[in-house]
Amino acid sequence: MTQHAPTPIGSSDQDRQGFTTAQVHAGQAPDASYGSRITPIHLSAGFAFDDFDQARDRFNGDEDGYTYTRYGNPTIAAVERKLAALEGGAEAIAVGSGQAAVSVALLGILSVGDHLLSARSIYEGSRGLFRDNFARMGIEVDFVDDANDPDAWRRLIRPNTRAFFGESIPNPRNEILDLSAVSAVADEAGVPLVIDNTLATPYLVRPIEHGATVVVHSASKFLGGHGSALGGVIVDSGRFDWATHAESFPHLAGPAHPLRKQSYTERFGAVAYAAYTRSAVASRLGPTLSPFNAFLLQQGIETLSLRVQRHSANALAVARWLEAQPEVESVDYSGLESNRYHELALRYLPRGQGSVFSFTLAGGVDAAERFVNAVRLFTPMSHLGDVRSLVLHAATTSHANLTPDELLAAGIAPGTLRLSVGIEDEPDLIRDLARALAAVSGASPAARIHDHLLAGTALG
Ligand SMILES: *Cc1c(COP(=O)(O)O)cnc(C)c1O
Repeated sequence: MTQHAPTPIGSSDQDRQGFTTAQVHAGQAPDASYGSRITPIHLSAGFAFDDFDQARDRFNGDEDGYTYTRYGNPTIAAVERKLAALEGGAEAIAVGSGQAAVSVALLGILSVGDHLLSARSIYEGSRGLFRDNFARMGIEVDFVDDANDPDAWRRLIRPNTRAFFGESIPNPRNEILDLSAVSAVADEAGVPLVIDNTLATPYLVRPIEHGATVVVHSASKFLGGHGSALGGVIVDSGRFDWATHAESFPHLAGPAHPLRKQSYTERFGAVAYAAYTRSAVASRLGPTLSPFNAFLLQQGIETLSLRVQRHSANALAVARWLEAQPEVESVDYSGLESNRYHELALRYLPRGQGSVFSFTLAGGVDAAERFVNAVRLFTPMSHLGDVRSLVLHAATTSHANLTPDELLAAGIAPGTLRLSVGIEDEPDLIRDLARALAAVSGASPAARIHDHLLAGTALG
């Protein structure tokens, strides 16, 4: 079944809009039946057909409209159009979580016997998916250690390499990916580049503008922002020429099924990948986004730029303050002038560098334990991109399955903590961190807050 691509976005009018205007208006018009200004929650499993012919035409994709929510739903379609517009893509597919987005996006490209080349520094859930689950499905994977060295990718390319994968801001250590450099190597190899843009959001960087083929998100994080609902999205740039590489991607560009007269590329042109991934991967594996979650996601996206500006400003202030504290050994925030990736951050993330980063306490795991148990405003929690500030001890939680060698390679020390800095008032965040550091070292929190205020970096 091939149907219900949401109406394409990116008309010339839309393209001229600023990001904040687009995040409010893109993909949404007052509802045709009642004039609801906000796309309502269409919590319906299926959609009635007027008659016999309409059922047939909708199933065959000869008529626009909906059949069953796993294939498409008006509330979900509104959020898909909005995200496609914000990422500068041709079409988007919303799914039930970020993990579903990564799985579905890659299973729309890869088959048994194919090889995936991924940056090593990526979200642990994605790394496990590639290393364990994909391996059991017969998809081979290699991880590139120095992801900003084009030759490091070139050396690992094989005849069966079919996709590159990386994150724009890798979680948790901010090793900013040189998107244009990696996409140039993917072009040489004739394979699509899939970028997880969760930590940056399209407000900070739009990977498609730097050569990415497909962008994925955990919408559970900054896009929603409220920390209430999981979701994920896959955005197809519409720019990869699958037909030229028909032998590598026979499911998209190869000979048509006897009952179908055309291949996906013949029928859907630039959005062949999105059409296939929606109708033959997402809908069959079944990680459907709830229309209720789609509605919450839509509410969140409308304020994305405002939140990300505030998140980034708060994170920079917190990172600068932490860097000056004696208990802190290092701070991995690309917004800091001292950071190895600062130049790349200024190039790709000039509007701000996001708010998820790690820092390392000199006192190791004991210091980390005292710190986590002393915070009151920061919540110890496994999540990020929330309006609330969060803290997590990587080595004993998200990265607990790694061997000591793997932890070392990932740059995660016993005293490493990951922060997701929220949108609260900066002085309150600093006060909370000062209290936690005082619990680590026994030094007075008051003195350093006073120093901070004198330095004039607080918002007042
Ligand atoms: C959280 C996250 C995911 C997984 O998303 P879920 O919505 O939790 O399934 C994938 N990639 C990155 C970078 C993430 O931060």
